[in-house]
Amino acid sequence: MSAALDIDAKQRQAVVIGAGFGGIALAIRLQAAGIQTVLVEKRDKPGGRAYVYEDAGYVFDAGPTVITDPTALDELFAAAGRKMADYVTLLPVSPFYRLCWEDGRFFDYVNDQAKLDRQIEAFEPADVDGYRRFLAYSREVFREGYEKLGTVPFLSFRDMIRAGPQLARLQAWRSVYSKVGEFLRDEQLRQTFSFHSLLVGGNPFATSSIYALIHALERQWGVWFAKGGTGALVRGLVRLFTDIGGRIELSAEVAEIEMAGGRARAVRLKDGRRFAADMVASNADVVHTYGGLLGSSDRGASEARRLKKKRFSMSLFVIYFGLKTHRPDIRHHTVCFGARYRELISEIFNGSDLPGDFSLYLHNPCVTDPSLAPAGAGAFYVLSPVPHLGHAEIDWQSEGPRYRDRILDYLEQRYIPGLRADLVTCRIFTPIDFRDELNSHLGSAFSLDPVLTQSAWFRPHNRDDKIANLYFVGAGTHPGAGVPGVVGSAKATAGLMIADGVG
Ligand SMILES: Cc1cc2nc3c(=O)[nH]c(=O)nc-3n(C[C@H](O)[C@H](O)[C@H](O)COP(=O)(O)OP(=O)(O)OC[C@H]3O[C@@H](n4cnc5c(N)ncnc54)[C@H](O)[C@@H]3O)c2cc1C
Repeated sequence: MSAALDIDAKQRQAVVIGAGFGGIALAIRLQAAGIQTVLVEKRDKPGGRAYVYEDAGYVFDAGPTVITDPTALDELFAAAGRKMADYVTLLPVSPFYRLCWEDGRFFDYVNDQAKLDRQIEAFEPADVDGYRRFLAYSREVFREGYEKLGTVPFLSFRDMIRAGPQLARLQAWRSVYSKVGEFLRDEQLRQTFSFHSLLVGGNPFATSSIYALIHALERQWGVWFAKGGTGALVRGLVRLFTDIGGRIELSAEVAEIEMAGGRARAVRLKDGRRFAADMVASNADVVHTYGGLLGSSDRGASEARRLKKKRFSMSLFVIYFGLKTHRPDIRHHTVCFGARYRELISEIFNGSDLPGDFSLYLHNPCVTDPSLAPAGAGAFYVLSPVPHLGHAEIDWQSEGPRYRDRILDYLEQRYIPGLRADLVTCRIFTPIDFRDELNSHLGSAFSLDPVLTQSAWFRPHNRDDKIANLYFVGAGTHPGAGVPGVVGSAKATAGLMIADGVG
């Protein structure tokens, strides 16, 4: 079938490839601005990394669970003339995280200064004052890096130069860990306040200290969880998009962005359907977009070659498991630090093999919303950061089940006694799945590594430099990964597309 959809002569038409958070947020903004928008998604459900698995009555959010900056979501609904409360309910999470070490110590990271101070003092009295100075630094980076620069596109080097003085003043060339280490003495506290960059795919020992802003962001607006899971938030956003006249096509894998006269003209699906477009935006992986969807054009081939030389962020190994019993003693978000921090992270980002130990993030959403599992039961996921496929050639087909068992044994011994006996359902997602299911280059979980030399102007631009009506949104473009990041990228990209569409 090759019936090109007719474009209404008066109304501009955009196609957005990929229904991750970034793609959906962009589609909403375009549709709300009067640009007729079609959102085409490869998988059978929207959400991208925020996909949902449903097994034996358990609901598993596949990816993002820590929802920060609810104001960015409010703004999205407001842009479409609606209210978020009519589509989704956000529930507060406290503590934000519990951080646990193998020596039995733990830290409840809460939004209450007195409680924080008491805990910090128990680790290292001198760090109470150090923490205050760190918070002041984090707030300053947050104002400069997030509020001022997080939603504006960096299209020319001039934009970068303009931001230069602030970046220099904030010592953006230093790593998150080195900056945190300047304020805090205790190693476990240093881990507590530096691990955040891992949530967006950044190595705390290499990622710019600008990412210390995540701490201020969480202190400012809290940590939230959507009632019904992150999937409910995705469904709410998609409903908003269709309510205002947008159209979404699922199980619609794009094979090619068709070019003519140096411009993108249409999007052709693998099943032969074709969508004509005045503007095309890709929320799919940037290497896949240039190399796979535009690979037959000179621009596509050369950009893919250039991007393949960049550093990509690590991958993840995720286990989604349902237990017969609810475990209220485990906090909603738990970070289980292994014995090694710096060395383990270095092996994850640069090593050529699967490390023998791990640090884990454990998700227990039923403490906030019991509806995600059958009555009295618990739906969990646990993730372990692992090297991407470009660094470590691991045969995940055979290693996956072994690695799963090692992690479940570890959890059973230290965190969830009786786990095996209570296990009802279990599935894994490996770097191979990131590559094959999500078309992610090297199976990276977060796209390009967010080091300073791959951030802002140095990241793939929100609008292609040569193809004037081709745009990017999501983790691979500015500002980068994480739900607030990709929702911010949608604002930056929508601004360009709306301005270009009018002109
Ligand atoms: C396990 C995990 C946990 C995370 N936890 C958090 C968290 O707690 N908080 C947080 O803020 N962030 C978290 N993140 C990061 C966050 O989820 C991502 O950065 C963000 O969701 C990426 O959104 P995106 O817009 O880039 O699109 P993606 O989610 O990457 O979606 C891209 C979409 O494009 C589609 N696509 C690809 N190729 C094609 C094609 N050819 N045709 C059509 N469609 C195509 C894919 O199927 C996919 O749906 C987590 C990530 C992972 C993996």
